[in-house]
Amino acid sequence: MKNKQFIASFEKTVKDTIQKYNLATKKDRIFVACSGGKDSTTVLHILKKLGYKPEALFIDLAIGKYSQKNLENIEKFCKKEKIKLNLISLRDEFGGSVCYIQSRLKTKLNTCNICGLLKRWLLNRKARELKATKLATGHNLDDESQTILMNLVKGNPELCAGLGPKTGVIKDKKFVRRIKPLYFCSEKDIEKYSRIMNFPVVYEPCPCSVTAHRKKFLYMLNDMEKSNPKIKLNIVNHFLEILPEIRKNKKTEKLAYCSICGEPSRKETCRVCTITRVS
Ligand code: AMP
Ligand code: ZN
Repeated sequence: MKNKQFIASFEKTVKDTIQKYNLATKKDRIFVACSGGKDSTTVLHILKKLGYKPEALFIDLAIGKYSQKNLENIEKFCKKEKIKLNLISLRDEFGGSVCYIQSRLKTKLNTCNICGLLKRWLLNRKARELKATKLATGHNLDDESQTILMNLVKGNPELCAGLGPKTGVIKDKKFVRRIKPLYFCSEKDIEKYSRIMNFPVVYEPCPCSVTAHRKKFLYMLNDMEKSNPKIKLNIVNHFLEILPEIRKNKKTEKLAYCSICGEPSRKETCRVCTITRVS
């Protein structure tokens, strides 16, 4: 496929996903959670191109040169595309980097889990403070199919209730709904799109993610894809058929607010306060 055709077809997939799953309207105040990488930069670019007015939200994770480069890149990109960039510093919020927080924990959690928890907590709080009505992430077909399998293998498909192109099993004024415009786009196509568009992004994975449990699922699915090119799409499409059933049970669940930070939580103390309040 020629580049021009590829770009048109890629952008159409994103546009169709937004429409089919009702991800956003032009009235929405959309904030894109930007890591400085190819996925979220692509989301930001396409939302702007489709006529939405997205702002960017970047968390400086304090992972040395990697974070520095990502910040430089997203600053450059937002300046060029005239998009407002909002910054959050993990160091200011939690006193240090993810590795620092990990080193102080009593129970051992892997870096990616801690990072994921802190990011979700910070992004939701900041997006709400900025009066966002939607929070878009760069999650793609590969991420989603891996997560579905990981939850199944854990023997806990209920964990999938929060997945899908748009979150929001439990509606709560403190929750900003998350949307995934790249839900049906493969990692490979996103990289191709980003390279053709010449986005200023780092293509290397986060240096802290080398041992991530998720990688096993990534290798497995990529290997199986060689004989079944639709495997990821099949997993996600089948999952979407059963998602309403999985969510049904969750709807009755009560949501409270963390007694320490006041953020939405299923327990008296949220997971972020549980892991960061050590000493
Ligand atoms: P990850 O947890 O690294 O797989 O990233 C999932 C999504 O979270 C990305 O597609 C981004 O939308 C968002 N994200 C990741 N890192 C950051 C960051 N440093 N700042 C803001 N958003 C981020
Ligand atoms: Zn809390």
